[in-house]
Amino acid sequence: MSNQNTDPNWGENNNYKYCPRCGNQTLAKAVICVKCGYTFPEFQPSTQYNPWPGLAMFLLIIGTLFIPLFGEVMGFISMQYPARRSQGILLLTLGIIKDVIFLLIIIFGFVSFFHTNIYYNSPFYY
Ligand SMILES: [Zn+2]
Repeated sequence: MSNQNTDPNWGENNNYKYCPRCGNQTLAKAVICVKCGYTFPEFQPSTQYNPWPGLAMFLLIIGTLFIPLFGEVMGFISMQYPARRSQGILLLTLGIIKDVIFLLIIIFGFVSFFHTNIYYNSPFYY
């Protein structure tokens, strides 16, 4: 029970969370523990980071689809905050997938370009 507070997934359950001080089960939306008065970390001023809201996440995904590097940077930044970790991983993955697709298009473009040129300029081509 002592390391409950440092667990990055702590308090991410959508319905319930547990007080790290007394173990009391409360609603995930609860700001303080009704039993012992503990203020949950996500509501403490220094760590006031909630998951990206739906619209922000939508815009981040759209941005990632156009500029993969944007998604990779935003994903990496988001991963620094426990509440945004899974969203950050999603953006990072999406950005990398887009990068790989771009890379494959470039590689296939070059291969087909050179292949075609060699093919037509080759003395062995009849
Ligand atoms: Zn408590």
